[in-house]
Formats: sequence, C-alpha cells, structure tokens
Amino acid sequence: MTAFDYDLFVIGGGSGGVRSARLAAALGKKVAIAEEFRYGGTCVIRGCVPKKLYVYASQFAEHFEDALGFGWSVGERRFDWQKLVAAKEQEITRLEGLYRKGLANAGAEILDTRAELVGPNEVRLSATGKTVSAERIVIAVGGHPSPHDALPGHELCITSNEAFDLDQLPKSILIAGGGYIAVEFANIFHGLGVETTLIYRGKEILSRFDQDLRRGLHAAMEEKGIRILCEDIIQSVSAGRDGRRIAATMKHGEIVTDQVMLALGRVPNTRSLGLETAGVKTDERGAIVVDAYSRTTAPGIFALGDVTDRVQLTPVAIHEAMCFIETEYKNNPTSPDHDLIATAVFSQPEIGTVGMAEDEAARRFAELEVYRAEFRPMRATLSGRKEKMIMKLLVNAADRKVVGAHILGHDAGEMAQLLGISLKAGCTKDDFDRTMAVHPTAAEELVTMYQPSYRLRNGERLP
Ligand SMILES: Cc1cc2nc3c(=O)[nH]c(=O)nc-3n(C[C@H](O)[C@H](O)[C@H](O)COP(=O)(O)OP(=O)(O)OC[C@H]3O[C@@H](n4cnc5c(N)ncnc54)[C@H](O)[C@@H]3O)c2cc1C
Repeated sequence: MTAFDYDLFVIGGGSGGVRSARLAAALGKKVAIAEEFRYGGTCVIRGCVPKKLYVYASQFAEHFEDALGFGWSVGERRFDWQKLVAAKEQEITRLEGLYRKGLANAGAEILDTRAELVGPNEVRLSATGKTVSAERIVIAVGGHPSPHDALPGHELCITSNEAFDLDQLPKSILIAGGGYIAVEFANIFHGLGVETTLIYRGKEILSRFDQDLRRGLHAAMEEKGIRILCEDIIQSVSAGRDGRRIAATMKHGEIVTDQVMLALGRVPNTRSLGLETAGVKTDERGAIVVDAYSRTTAPGIFALGDVTDRVQLTPVAIHEAMCFIETEYKNNPTSPDHDLIATAVFSQPEIGTVGMAEDEAARRFAELEVYRAEFRPMRATLSGRKEKMIMKLLVNAADRKVVGAHILGHDAGEMAQLLGISLKAGCTKDDFDRTMAVHPTAAEELVTMYQPSYRLRNGERLP
C-alpha cells in the first residue's frame, strides 16, 4: 500500500504527458493527469495537426493551376477561411476526445485544471485548491511561442497560437522568423492568397538544415511570390489609423501589413510551476534540466518533451515518455535516443531530412562523398510548373555509411520517414545501390545516383 494518493501524477496533457499517463495506467498504476487548456496539447490543438490541415488547404490553389496542364478546366474558385477554421476545429475536437478516451480506458484520472508543484511529492490543483501527493511526478508542460517582449509593439502581433483562429484571413502578413514554423506559415498564408513577407535576421532561412535545401527552398518560395527579407529584423510595430500594422524594419523601411506574426522561438512553460520549491533546476532559458533518463534534480520528479528543450518534436516527446515507462515501471532502464531523427518541413515544396547536413558531415569525416540530383519532377512536366526537386545523399568514404539524406520536393516528408529507417539501420551507399528502383517515381533517384557529384577531403572540395 503506497503512502501517496497516486503512483504517478502527470502535469500536462500533451504528446508526452498523455503517453506517460496512459501507459502507466494501463500497467495498473494509480495515475492522474492534469491539463489546464485542452487535451492533446500543442501538437493536436495548435501545432502539427492543424498546421498540416492548413498546409493541405493552402496547396489547392496550385493543384487547380496544375490541373489545366492535364486537361482539366477548373471553374470559379473561392476560398472560405471561416469554413476551414470550423472544419479544423471539428477535427481537433474529435482528436481531443480520442486522447481523453484513451486515458479513461486505461484507467487514468483526467483532471481539467492547472497543476503546480508545492513540494517534492506534492501537487496543487488550481481548480479546487486541493493538494495531492504522488510517488512519481512527470512534468510535461511543453512551451509557448516567445512573445518577444523586447520588441516595441509586440502586443499588436500574433503568434502561431492565434494564427490558427483569426476571425478574418488577412490580405497581407509579415512573418518574423526563419525556423520551420515561420517558413511553414509563410507558405500556408501565401497559398491561401495572402500577400506574404518573411523577415529573418540570419543569412538564410532554416539555419540547421542542409545549405542546398535552404537555398533551394528560398528560391522556390520567392518564385511563387513570397517576399523573403534575410539579414533584417523588425524594430517596432505600431497600429495605423486604419487598424493595419506598421512594422519598422532595420533595412527595408516601413512595411504596412494587416498582421504581423512572430515566430521567434518557443519558451518552456516553467513559470510559476513551483519548480524551486520542489528542488527542480532549470537552465538559463527556463528549460528543465534532466539526465539521460529524464530525471530532474529532484528525486521522484521527471520531465519530458518540449519543456526539457532537447528536441522539440512530437515523436520525441512520445519516445521520451515510453523510455520513462520502461525505466521506472518495467525495470528496463532505457534512455531516449536522439540520434538520427528524421524530420520534415511542410513548406511548399516540402523538406524531408535525416542525419547530418553537408557542412557538419564535412567537418566530421575526413572524406565525404556527395551524391546530388536536381531535376524537374514528372508531375511538373505537363503542369509546366518550374519547381525543381533536390535529392542528396552524404556518404562517409571510410565506411561507405550514408550519414545524411536530404530531399526538397513533393512528399519529401513521407520519403524522410523511410530514409530514417535506412540510416538508423546503418545502411551503406552500396545498400542503396543494390536496391531496385520503384519506377516511375521521384524517389527512385535515391537509388540511382551511382557516381558522387563531388567529394570533400578535410572539408575542401576536391577538383
Ligand atoms: C505551430 C507548430 C507546429 C508544429 N509542427 C510539428 C510537426 O509538424 N511535427 C512535430 O513533430 N512537431 C511539431 N511541433 C512541435 C510539437 O507540437 C511539440 O514538440 C509537442 O507538442 C511537444 O509535446 P509536449 O508533451 O512536450 O508538450 P505539449 O504538447 O505542448 O503539451 C503540454 C501541455 O501542458 C499543458 N500545461 C502547461 N502547463 C500546465 C500546468 N501547469 N498544468 C496543467 N497543464 C499544463 C499545456 O496546456 C499543454 O497542453 C509543432 C509545434 C508548433 C507550435
């Protein structure tokens, strides 16, 4: 008989929290989970899921155009933003219901309240003021978009949170940021017919991705009509008399626009969580410090997902939760594996990537072979669209292992998932070469690039 109210108390009903609570409850543990907003968390309510639905919506304009080349005549087109928002709301509500059902079926107690730590094993529930105790506590509270307080007029701007539910689709938008969220929203809004400008302080968008893809995507986005201003920042935002926003930029003067969206990073939800009282340390950014097993500095308290600022992706939060369960409840110490995470940017064209970017691989390996193909995909031939696809494999010449695979083009995200398996399995370039092509596909290029496009020795390109 435990001396605590619960075996496990989970704070946060997002990707990581729900998985922890559901699996522990299914193992017969007495579990409670608290969520202050909506079950499903960022991913389901205002992240991956609604984003991807909006990506689909935004692609139709091009589909209609492309259809002409294949013999179709498309009649009058009209887009209804309110209809999309309502349909999205219906879908995320359905998913939220499934999350709750999964928890209830496993036997977890579902609490709709904010929860804060008040001691090493104690949590206070804001809705009732009640304090409960638990043998173990998982903190999976995620993060929120940085409000960028230092920017004069930041309160006039929106973030990704608001972008999903705007009353009206703006005629124009200025998006600040160069990460995947900024880039994806720039493509979404542009596809829906919004005059879109992206402003980013760095030299090139998507800083941690392969240079080729970054440049290729930049060019493709500009070709579509998205204005991209690199090496520039917004210095202030004010409201004009007509209610529009006036953004003063450092290099490009004033930009008058309907909305300014800030996509300048995310901040862990650790404020007023009682971490100090419980002895849980955070880093300078407010992220919870954890060891290889997601243990915080306080015994019995664990943290996982975005709040720990390791890799901020849904499958990573879920994986960290599963490792926690293995370690704590199945006597099988398992630390999360953050190596070779395949990922996508749902830009248009899409990016799919796994492993090292060329710069990084060139620093790491004495000799690197680069296999690169840039071509017009078959679907663009009849449509007449100029878009190019880029595929790239990076191979460590010493052992022939493929250490990076990068794709820009349609369905790149889908391909990256499968490439993730190959790289994780340690496949060599020879394994790729002896794999039969699927024809006619764009992906067949991945197994038919027989000769390196170029080689790098000690980071220098060989003649
Ligand atoms: C616009 C956008 C697009 C994204 N797209 C992708 C994508 O395509 N692919 C991908 O893999 N990832 C994507 N992500 C990232 C992904 O959403 C996160 O990595 C993931 O949701 C992290 O899960 P989590 O459990 O750590 O936190 P969250 O999902 O953020 O869940 C935390 C929950 O805790 C709740 N909470 C916070 N404090 C408390 C408290 N004190 N008490 C009770 N509840 C509390 C919050 O309300 C929230 O519901 C995207 C994120 C954004 C913002």
